[in-house]
Amino acid sequence: MSDADTLQALINGALFQAMADRICEHVDELTELDQAIGDGDHGANMKRGFEAIEADLDTIALKPLPDAFRAAGTTLVMKVGGASGPLYGTLFMALGKALPAHPDRDDWLSAFGAAIDAVKARGKSEAGQKTMLDVLVPVHDALAGGASIAEIRQAAADAATATIPMQATKGRASFLGERSIGHMDPGARSSQLLIETACDLLGGPR
Ligand code: ADP
Ligand code: MG
Repeated sequence: MSDADTLQALINGALFQAMADRICEHVDELTELDQAIGDGDHGANMKRGFEAIEADLDTIALKPLPDAFRAAGTTLVMKVGGASGPLYGTLFMALGKALPAHPDRDDWLSAFGAAIDAVKARGKSEAGQKTMLDVLVPVHDALAGGASIAEIRQAAADAATATIPMQATKGRASFLGERSIGHMDPGARSSQLLIETACDLLGGPR
């Protein structure tokens, strides 16, 4: 293995481990958010998926970055279940398909855009419906607008908060109609957590 490959494996391992840690630290919060406007399984779903990634971390980390994302996405589809499993799985697999082995900021921007489009197609959804897309799309916009890492983190936090007054028109929460208003969307919150982790790991010092 070349020095560059060894470094990439360390980065990949650290990134997926940090995502798993961040999700596992917030399982109860994700459960409570989904209890309010869904069926209460989002915390358990995400934990199951990211623990499976963690269990396979040695294999995933040794792959080139695109293949690592594809493998993680496949695991999420298989393990997470619910609506969010196929959607997060699609996000990660599409990132893997679009990313080059050593992406720069522009590569991340275009790959993230392609991955969001894949989620929209899979979910038949768009921003404004109180879903994970209400964090992913504003973060993409911030990245496209040249935002700093600190500004991207802030954009993700603001976007998750902005789902509170929204009425859900997609996913299980939409069954509640107006009663979905007043709660943060669980998938928006889990997306925020994953974006923050990527910012911390890939963006250098805050
Ligand atoms: P389920 O709704 O099947 O119980 P989860 O609780 O794991 O699955 O995930 C719920 C989250 O999935 C929601 O909070 C929302 O962010 C996201 N979601 C659901 N349906 C869609 C969709 N069609 N497009 C985008 N995101 C969606
Ligand atoms: Mg649920």
